[in-house]
Amino acid sequence: MEYFSPKKPEEAEKIKNRQGKKNVYLAGGTILNWKSCPSADTLIDLKNLGLDRISVSGGRINIGATVTVQEIADYPGTPGPLARAARTFTGRNIRGSATIGGTVAGGFFVSNLLPVLIAYGAELEICLNGRRKKTGLREWLDKRKGLVCAVTIKPGSRNVFVECEKISAIDFPLIVTAAGFGLKNGKISDPVIAVSGAAARIAVIRVSGAIEGRKPGEIDREFLNESVQKDLRVTDNVKASADIKRRIIKEHICRIMDEASCL
Ligand SMILES: Cc1cc2nc3c(=O)[nH]c(=O)nc-3n(C[C@H](O)[C@H](O)[C@H](O)COP(=O)(O)OP(=O)(O)OC[C@H]3O[C@@H](n4cnc5c(N)ncnc54)[C@H](O)[C@@H]3O)c2cc1C
Repeated sequence: MEYFSPKKPEEAEKIKNRQGKKNVYLAGGTILNWKSCPSADTLIDLKNLGLDRISVSGGRINIGATVTVQEIADYPGTPGPLARAARTFTGRNIRGSATIGGTVAGGFFVSNLLPVLIAYGAELEICLNGRRKKTGLREWLDKRKGLVCAVTIKPGSRNVFVECEKISAIDFPLIVTAAGFGLKNGKISDPVIAVSGAAARIAVIRVSGAIEGRKPGEIDREFLNESVQKDLRVTDNVKASADIKRRIIKEHICRIMDEASCL
């Protein structure tokens, strides 16, 4: 196996695109070192790319791809829902290694942070074909192309809520549900609900018809839950049946709307 530690994202991407070899980015290594990890011919370590900082400017928080989940939890400027999601990540050892870039790109079957980032309408800075560009997180997740350099959110522009269900404190989450929306004259705009753990891929549901244009305190929770569940694929896994998961998601939606109605 070859090992590289490039200093620029463009350099890293060039090595990744070398033909005929399985070239893999190495961030915190929590997925790569796991029992089901794929073998690689080349490891491209991202640690020297200078993507390890959080910065705030113009109301935006820019989180470099190699910032760890623990650093996000500890950073004083991390908005509450994101800090809460980071803190509920499995034990401190994993949080200290796992990065936000690996969370976005890793495709793990359940995620604490992704639903929250989607609820915030996060944007990514990526390096693709030697060029830096910006793209929406949701769009990127459809194609997963390029090196993720940073994740940006604008916390002031959206109200975000998150709920997480775990079987034990040191376990992966079973279901993570996040909701995000803007408020115009006290009325909900551009609402989205993201659910991780229901099936293999994160589900993103636009619930416009159920809540858009209403005040948070006026939402019919039963109707909102039905709208979400109708569009949601839910599968059994070793921890819970699809039926149990649906009940947890319903409970999350009710708790989120209780919290939102205090706005
Ligand atoms: C024991 C254990 C417990 C876990 N607990 C949780 C949990 O509680 N909650 C949760 O949400 N997740 C959990 N995970 C999943 C995992 O740790 C996270 O998704 C994590 O953030 C992955 O980050 P990493 O830096 O370790 O990625 P790595 O393992 O280094 O990489 C993962 C994949 O992403 C690619 N990659 C990494 N960085 C980038 C980048 N910047 N651009 C493009 N591709 C990139 C790598 O090439 C690789 O294919 C757990 C995993 C393990 C093994």
